[in-house]
Formats: sequence, structure tokens, C-alpha cells
Amino acid sequence: MKNQYDMIIVGGGLLGCATAYQLAKRRAGNILLLDGNDIASQASARAACLLTRARTKPALMEMVQETYDCIEEMEALLGESLGLQQCGSITIASSEASLREVEALEQAANRFGIANERIGQERVRELLPWINEEAVQVALYMPTDAFIDSALLCSGYAKAAQKLGVELKTNTKVREIAVTADGAVEGVILCDGTKIQAPVVVNAAGSWANLLMRPLGIGLPFTPVRSHFWISDPDAERFPANHPFTVIPDARAFTRSDVGSLIIGLRESECQPFDPQTLTDKLEDFDFRAEAKWKILDECAPLLKPYLRDIDTLGIAHYMAGPSCYVPDAKFIIGGFKQHRGLFTVTGCCGGGVAAGGGMGRLAAEMILGETPFVDPALFAPDRFGEVDPFTVEFQKRCADARSNKKGG
Ligand SMILES: Cc1cc2nc3c(=O)[nH]c(=O)nc-3n(C[C@H](O)[C@H](O)[C@H](O)COP(=O)(O)OP(=O)(O)OC[C@H]3O[C@@H](n4cnc5c(N)ncnc54)[C@H](O)[C@@H]3O)c2cc1C
Repeated sequence: MKNQYDMIIVGGGLLGCATAYQLAKRRAGNILLLDGNDIASQASARAACLLTRARTKPALMEMVQETYDCIEEMEALLGESLGLQQCGSITIASSEASLREVEALEQAANRFGIANERIGQERVRELLPWINEEAVQVALYMPTDAFIDSALLCSGYAKAAQKLGVELKTNTKVREIAVTADGAVEGVILCDGTKIQAPVVVNAAGSWANLLMRPLGIGLPFTPVRSHFWISDPDAERFPANHPFTVIPDARAFTRSDVGSLIIGLRESECQPFDPQTLTDKLEDFDFRAEAKWKILDECAPLLKPYLRDIDTLGIAHYMAGPSCYVPDAKFIIGGFKQHRGLFTVTGCCGGGVAAGGGMGRLAAEMILGETPFVDPALFAPDRFGEVDPFTVEFQKRCADARSNKKGG
């Protein structure tokens, strides 16, 4: 590790690594990426990994497409597969409200050229051997949707960035972002006191990002909230490998195959936020209040029961909880700061960093390099809520409300 770089990225999760890759691809200079843990070891190792293409927000759809493009490019660059599983997806509607959502998705998919077709109950049953097809009124099948192991994808960005010249340094925690008296960024200071200089610093520290911003008087408008899913006991006949993932808005649920088991994602009506000050350095030491998992399953299972009739008795083998960084308007946080020249952030994933990470990294890189942005950056401006204090219970609740009752994929 040298003591001077053109750019330093803090955070080796999906967003930091995708940004590193996008910058390196643009030959942005000497870049150092630092992580206090290992690459892809925190939130980016806990995702359900859905890469849902069709969205009702056009910018988001562009960003997801960018992730698919990155996967193809990186596989060519690295000469290895990143394990994309093109299983397809089925969005299911059984009420007027969700039918309108399906119609909006269908229109968005058609506008964007994403293959889609409505399928009847018989075909639903063929593709999803576990489902009670009679509960399905309308099913929208998108055969090109996929999932990918999020840790593999994250390592893919990191390896591709490294191949293009980015230096990666793990188990190296940043204590603070250093700025000059007039506020310009001058580098970072590590926990052992070492100062590394760079005129550009990108805060991609995920759930911890506000801890680095606080001494600079910046509050990023998000808080980490609990995201989670359950994994059933294996039953390869009912849950065959790589059958389509589902999004079921009426049940606030999604499902995905997992080598002969079923991943079941359920969203409770009151999502659990966390104060960033309580975060531990490693998520394995953090108390996600997992004891609530049975209560939440009790609350949410009745909504899924019409589709998965034996949910009450289905064996549950695992429960996975992790933090998602939620923003009150459920849009990402990407951009710079007027008062601190050279400081940028890419965070506030709103549960979409696997799907949209390639696009989030691209927008961050374009903004850092002053290129024409491929989507409207105003949508993601860090200061769009004015001044916020992410360390207050009130603001954390506003963020959690954006996830409570989430219905999409
Ligand atoms: C249960 C669950 C299911 C999900 N399902 C999906 C899904 O289906 N589809 C989807 O698109 N997204 C999904 N997500 C969201 C996805 O996991 C996140 O969007 C993504 O992992 C965020 O990446 P990140 O880089 O912001 O965070 P992280 O992966 O947490 O990376 C942040 C990194 O910063 C490092 N760091 C922090 N502070 C410092 C410091 N001071 N110095 C040095 N390093 C530091 C940390 O060690 C960490 O490695 C899910 C999330 C969860 C929890």
C-alpha cells in the first residue's frame, strides 16, 4: 500500500466493488479500495440475490440492466463464470391492486424490451410444483430474470477491478475521512493512525457509512433495517433447483429456489430499524433480534398460505437476517457534497444492491469523473431531503416505514 492515490474507496461490499470496477474500466487513475473486513463478507454475503429486471421506476430498470451487462463483461475479462442462474421470474396477482401492479410491470417490461408473457394456471403449476395454482388470478412470467450468489458477484467486481489495476486492502479499517480547513477531501486516516492521501474519497461503507460522515457534519438519509428470509427443509421434488423465483405482492412475499429448498422472503408490517451507533464491526457479532423470526412468520404466513398451503407445517431449516440501508423515498444515495470537494458516496441500497449495484457503481463513477450520467442523478442526490439526523429515532422510523409492507421483488 502506498501513501498516496488518486482515489480511495471505503467499503468492499457490492457497492464499493462495483464502483471500483466502473472507475477502473474508465482508467480513472490509481485507486485503493479498503475494507475493515474481507471483501464481500458483510451485507453482500446475506442477500436473497434476486436480479429482478422489470421495475416501475425507469432509472432503476437501467441500473439493473447495467448489472447484467457488467456480469457479461466481467466473465469475459476474468475468463470465468460468475454463476448467473437464469431461472425466470413469475409475478403473481390475486387482487385488483396487485393486478394493477402487474399491468404496470408488464408495460415497463414491454417498453424496455424485456421478454414477458402472461401464463395460465396449468403452466404456473408446471413451473412452480409447490404452488396452489388456484390462488393465482394472473401470472406474469419473465423468462430472462435471474439470481446470482451475491458474494460471488461482489468478488467478481473486486477481481475485475483488481485486474484493471485497483489495489485491494482488506482487514484495514478507516477511522476517519480527512479534510482540509476549507473542507476539501485529502484522504483517510486508518485505525492505526496511518494517513493515506487522495483528493477523492468514496464512502461505500454500507450500514456504517453514516459513522464516517458524522464527524464531517453530514447525515446521509438512511438507516440500516432488518431484511430477512427463511429457508425450508429440502424437498427437491417440490422445490426443484432453479425453478422461477416468484414475487407475490398480495402476500408481501417472494420465493426463490435454493438447491432443493425454498427461500421464502416475507415483509412484516413494522420493519425493525437499527441505530448505526449500535453496529458492531462484523455483522456476525450483531444482534439482529432474530428471536422475532417466529412471531414475524406467524404474522406473515396467513398471507402466503393461499399459495403455499402447508406453510404452517413446512419444516424451516434456516433463517437469514441482515441489514438493508433504507431511505424514506426508497431510492439510492449516490453523489457528492458541495461543502466537501472530492467526497462522494454510494449507499442507501434499499434492498437492491445486488440487482442495481452495477448501475449504482456506474452512476457514482460518472459523477466522480464528470461524465454525462446515464440516469438522472437528481433522483439519488444525497441532500434531497435537506438536513437530516440519521441518529434520531424519528428519522430511523421514517426509513423503516419505507420498507414496512414492501411488496415488490
Ligand atoms: C436478507 C437480505 C436479502 C437481500 N436480498 C436482496 C436481493 O434479493 N436483491 C438485491 O438486489 N439486494 C438484496 N439485498 C441487499 C443487498 O445485500 C445490499 O444492497 C448490498 O449487499 C449492499 O452492499 P454494500 O456494499 O452497501 O454493503 P456491505 O456489503 O455491508 O459492504 C460495506 C462494507 O464496508 C466495510 N466498512 C464499513 N465501515 C468501514 C470502515 N470504517 N473502514 C473500512 N471498511 C468499512 C464493511 O466491512 C463492509 O464490507 C438483501 C439484503 C439482505 C440483508
